Amino acid sequence: MPPRDKLATPFERVTVQYATTGGTKVMWQLHRLFTDPQPHSFQLQGAYGGVDGSDWVDIGLPVLNTFFAVDDEQRIYGKNQDWNYRVVLTTPTREYTSGAVTPRENLNFRDWRLSTDLIRKERLRLNDLVGVQGFLLKRKRYGSRCTRCVEKLSDEVTDSDCPVCNGTGILVGYYAAIPDVYIEIPPVDTSEQMDNLQAAGTVERAVVQGCRALGDPGLDVYDVFVVKGSDVRYVVRDVNDMATHRGYTIASTVTMNQLPFTDRAYKIPLEGT
Ligand SMILES: [Zn+2]
Repeated sequence: MPPRDKLATPFERVTVQYATTGGTKVMWQLHRLFTDPQPHSFQLQGAYGGVDGSDWVDIGLPVLNTFFAVDDEQRIYGKNQDWNYRVVLTTPTREYTSGAVTPRENLNFRDWRLSTDLIRKERLRLNDLVGVQGFLLKRKRYGSRCTRCVEKLSDEVTDSDCPVCNGTGILVGYYAAIPDVYIEIPPVDTSEQMDNLQAAGTVERAVVQGCRALGDPGLDVYDVFVVKGSDVRYVVRDVNDMATHRGYTIASTVTMNQLPFTDRAYKIPLEGT
């Protein structure tokens, strides 16, 4: 275990980007070894200045056990240069405040308009034409260690099929599913796919390259995509930015593995924790 004071600030990274739905999205990442008990309540705050003594105001309602919040107000950052965000986390044990973060400096109002227009077009293309509708299960990067299968000394996961952590080593291991996520999944040669699945039983998985997803919500390796209706599940293996505008990801190319129905991933609850 690291020294106790190392986790006095569990926030590892707080980032700001424009939300595809308008407004601003603030995302945070907590330290891998942060193990305060649930629930974790996050309050987004904003202020001019952003130093101690600023008048921080709550933005929206607190959100529970998640990794982002959206400020719906359309702020023109080119004119409000000194606007800042921060996040206040309240757990059953104590309260933590992140450092202040400023919206991406190189995104002025004109760039933002261009970015949102590009995102809108990409979203229309995915939603109406080529995308498969589904749920995105974001894998947790931190949280209470699995009480059943994690080796205490080495912190290693000893059971990839563990019913408590779903093989992640962290309790339940995934956030509540994000609905209405669209991913373009190119057709795969069916016979080849079946061969792959049968040849290696439950271990080998059918690889689907050249999938395409919006930059928001961003996909990360080991996230799980659940196809609406059929419940076919894929695990994300690789993500590359494909179209960016001024540092903002419009779309990504993604490699995913289709999981056989025997895979543990089919037991991950969509409700999360
Ligand atoms: Zn486990």
